[in-house]
Amino acid sequence: MDNKFKNFENPKKYKLDQLLFQIFKQHLFWALGALVFLLLTVIITLSLPIMARYIVDGYVFSVETGQKYLYLSCALVAVAAFGTAIRFYLITLLGERLVSDLRQALFDKIINFSPNFFEKTLTGDLVSRINADTTLVQSVAGSTLSLAVRNTLLFLGGIALMFSTSTKLASFSLLIIPIIVFPLLYFGRFLRKLTRQTQDKLANSAGVASEYIFASTTIQTNSYQLKATKEYSNIIEDSYLKSKTRVLARSVMIFLIIMLVFLAISFVVWTGLKDVESGNFSIGELLQFCLYSLVVGVSVGAITETYGEISKFLGALDRIGEILRTVDAVEDPPKPITLKTPINGSITFKKVKFNYPMRKETLALDIPDLKIHKNEKVALVGLSGAGKTTVFQLIQRLYDPVKGSILLDTHPINKISKEDLRQQIAYVPQEPVIFSKSVIDNIRIGRVGASSEEVEKSAKLACVEEFIKDLPQGYDTILGERGLLISVGQKQRIAIARAILRDSPILLLDEATSSLDAISENAIKTAIDNVSGNKTIIVIAHRLSTVKNADRILFLEKGKIENEGSHRELIRTNKKYKKLTELQFL
Ligand code: ADP
Repeated sequence: MDNKFKNFENPKKYKLDQLLFQIFKQHLFWALGALVFLLLTVIITLSLPIMARYIVDGYVFSVETGQKYLYLSCALVAVAAFGTAIRFYLITLLGERLVSDLRQALFDKIINFSPNFFEKTLTGDLVSRINADTTLVQSVAGSTLSLAVRNTLLFLGGIALMFSTSTKLASFSLLIIPIIVFPLLYFGRFLRKLTRQTQDKLANSAGVASEYIFASTTIQTNSYQLKATKEYSNIIEDSYLKSKTRVLARSVMIFLIIMLVFLAISFVVWTGLKDVESGNFSIGELLQFCLYSLVVGVSVGAITETYGEISKFLGALDRIGEILRTVDAVEDPPKPITLKTPINGSITFKKVKFNYPMRKETLALDIPDLKIHKNEKVALVGLSGAGKTTVFQLIQRLYDPVKGSILLDTHPINKISKEDLRQQIAYVPQEPVIFSKSVIDNIRIGRVGASSEEVEKSAKLACVEEFIKDLPQGYDTILGERGLLISVGQKQRIAIARAILRDSPILLLDEATSSLDAISENAIKTAIDNVSGNKTIIVIAHRLSTVKNADRILFLEKGKIENEGSHRELIRTNKKYKKLTELQFL
């Protein structure tokens, strides 16, 4: 999956630390606050062994002195506990804030990409970047990172203080540290590999599950459930076995660490006791030293645990950064012109040549000169693959032509902001997309902010009302994901209602190829009739009635306009058109 993103065109060069800074910049105050409290607690933690020494040695000297240090220690612990609580609050909230911001930024970016981006990317991959990668960032930024800083400081401080307590014992301990660190590192690497494998298996199982659940009806009608269940369970079992090995390795590691730390401390304590006996070392100092070696031992263990997490975090940041830094193939002009509305709604193609970015070798469209006039009704006709939909895509600036330009009235469309341009256009695709929202909200997608009356008026004109009457909650009925609850003809009527509601000067309509029911067909005709005369209409026509009603027909073949004229003229002059109409319309 990652390889797909290596193909990303023109992601701006960036460095990971720049991205890290950018991410933390807005939350610098919180991050610094957390750092201050972190430092405070580290200093206090490191001072506690000294306190322990004073308590013990003081007690030996006089009970009151011991007690005095005990009270002081309690006060320090209280400050440290308070500091830790505040650090926890700041850092955890920082993680939560970061994950929300990152998700928002990713969604904003992805939702605005032109189709070329999605031709190279798997939807599942994008969703996983929004969910899984950001969650990783949250868990690391919201805890692991601060733990890593804390443990590194404790480790360094602990070592320094061990030496200041007793150079001899510290040198001994340093010899022992590699014996503890080596297996830790070895097991750490082994564990990371296993974790990675479990995650891959899980991602794999999610892919299989979503694909099969998406197609559950097909699975059932083909009696494929048993096979699908087996396939899923194989992956899940595999992931379980990997986890089992990981848990076992971890248990062995825990055993080893406890044993090694215990043996090391016993050895050092034994050597230290000899020094106490000979009077070179007080019992309090020995206690202080032991506590420091414990601090160092524990922090080493914690650092090795966080290491894997942090490398995953950097990987996740990298994947997020790739998207945030990707430059869209169709960019807004730096200084867009402001359209004077209402526009006339004429469209001109000038020396336009276009090939799809993913199929550079084939010319998908070659239109040297075409003018569609204000309020004209034009039908595009041609075999499948002739380039009709491509014309619509270029007009809406979903792709830019490779050569030439397209004008809206007198303005090249790449000088207008995409938002402004698309405001002037209503588009009814052949397979309209219905969202898991109510009927009314689905129609309102055409014009956010339209009143209920306006929506209902459009619904009436598009003959949506006729089937809404039979729905349980009328306009408030939720249509189900991908509009599973209604037929194709009904979906197209909803899309037409959207277009009518949008009330733009230009209407692009891709008629459904499948035979529509009479009501839906009538809805399309009504919609066109209703807006005819005061809108520029371009229809990809599959119906005789549509071509007959058109002012002009453009007959497309292999990306070129072969012929144009009225239906009668084309029947007379173009054999291919005649044949096509006989096949398609009758
Ligand atoms: P029509 O709408 O007339 O059936 P299209 O405009 O959809 O035809 O397609 C014109 C040609 O471009 C076809 O050969 C089709 O395979 C190709 N095509 C369409 N979309 C893409 C795409 N996103 N990437 C590459 N080629 C495409």
